[in-house]
Amino acid sequence: MEKEMVKIFDTTLRDGEQSPGCSMDINEKIRMARQLAKLNVDIIEAGFPVASQGDFEAVKRIAQEIEGPAIAGLARANPHDIDRAWEAVKYGKRPRIHTFIATSDIHLEYKLKKSREQVLDDTFHAVAHAKKYTPDVEFSAEDATRSDWEYLAQVFSTAVEAGATTLNVPDTVGYTYPDEFSRLIAYLKQNVKGAEKIIFSVHCHNDLGLAVANSLAAVKAGARQVECTVNGIGERAGNCSMEEVVMTLKVRKDLFDCDTRIVTDQICHSSKLLSLITGVAVQPNKAIVGANSFAHESGIHQDGILKHKMTYEIMTPESVGWSKHKLVLGKHSGRHAFRTRLTELGYQLSQVELEKAFDAFKKLADLKKEVFDDDLEVLVTDEITRGPDRFELVDLRVQSGTKSKPKAKVKIRCDGKVKSGELTGGGPVDAAFKAIRKITGFKGELLKYNVAAITGGTDAQGEVSVTIKDKGREVRGVGTHADIIQASAKAYVNALNRLENFRKKKEGI
Ligand SMILES: [Zn+2]
Repeated sequence: MEKEMVKIFDTTLRDGEQSPGCSMDINEKIRMARQLAKLNVDIIEAGFPVASQGDFEAVKRIAQEIEGPAIAGLARANPHDIDRAWEAVKYGKRPRIHTFIATSDIHLEYKLKKSREQVLDDTFHAVAHAKKYTPDVEFSAEDATRSDWEYLAQVFSTAVEAGATTLNVPDTVGYTYPDEFSRLIAYLKQNVKGAEKIIFSVHCHNDLGLAVANSLAAVKAGARQVECTVNGIGERAGNCSMEEVVMTLKVRKDLFDCDTRIVTDQICHSSKLLSLITGVAVQPNKAIVGANSFAHESGIHQDGILKHKMTYEIMTPESVGWSKHKLVLGKHSGRHAFRTRLTELGYQLSQVELEKAFDAFKKLADLKKEVFDDDLEVLVTDEITRGPDRFELVDLRVQSGTKSKPKAKVKIRCDGKVKSGELTGGGPVDAAFKAIRKITGFKGELLKYNVAAITGGTDAQGEVSVTIKDKGREVRGVGTHADIIQASAKAYVNALNRLENFRKKKEGI
């Protein structure tokens, strides 16, 4: 029997991006959206266009540039939000407007200060307004799991009457439990007028660690769209993790009569790219994408694995894209091979960008014998897809020894002029940071400093992320280099540039 499809609605760029430390600039969002298209998600929720000019531009460009998935924009249930969402998504081939209003008494009373009748009225008008623009309208009842079921069914029936084609049931505060949630979905399928014409969707938060379990329970009860994020990023404890839902449906196909269209061997790559862009690493024991998720350390397990893989492995690492660190290029690879590999990875670079990337590649190949796909990703993200920068690290020299005090000499181009400074510090990184602060005049504080290796081996590229804070704004920067002190300086300068970009960007509401 043909399996039914569960749509994967990816909200990494909207709900995920809203969480602390995960903000992305426009080029980073487009890079991530391109990878989501390769992963073959059904819908990309690209942002909340009314929230700021930056969000609007990002949604618009994703709608213009990304082929494949439907592109959705979020809007509260009012005409202004919906108009703005439409202005941004209308460039896509399959635009979706996603409008929402809260339905729980607690939200009605304290947040919206509206009666149940007013919310019914707003629901009808919002959906009908969106429907004038596009046939693909999704309606969400915020805090659905803490709403009165009968009233919820009434709101959803109203949304269907006004033309909604997807009804989303969010567990906004991560409160529900699998058994309860599947009963709610079954109840709604029974009691919403016109339920047979529409798709039920779920959007679960992970406050009790149940987002994936709740989403799967809903699928069992007939939900056919799951809203989720790569690595489960999102506010507080995060959203439902895309990779866990997708792989459970695959591995336990005996239990589910449905599947997704996800290209599973793109999962790890998507996870890594997101970590790389946001600087937020995945915990090592995270299911599917954590560094240890396929490592068998205990003697008993290792013995079993050697005898037969299936003794302890329920899925292969290859099926989710692990061990795809193919050796692609080395020091002697030419421009042609380099360009071909980048094209295969989904990058279309202009001639100027290609030259810039090729120079960076040559430098990297000098430092590192083997250049892997992951290294190339880093290189392109680092060198090409960034916006115009105010500061550029020109040179960094450090001196450090057991007897001498660590010293750093730094040269930075600031607004076109090269300035230099030399300072000592507690260690070479500290000295370099002090010199950068002096040259750029940055007075804020350094909140976090993190080092990770991107690929294996002692010549692995180091990836450093730093978070700085100035006048209440927290900004993160990342830098990569085979030398971690260089990577640290690049990360610090990157953070300063991002701070400048945020300052320049006029925010909306
Ligand atoms: Zn959410």
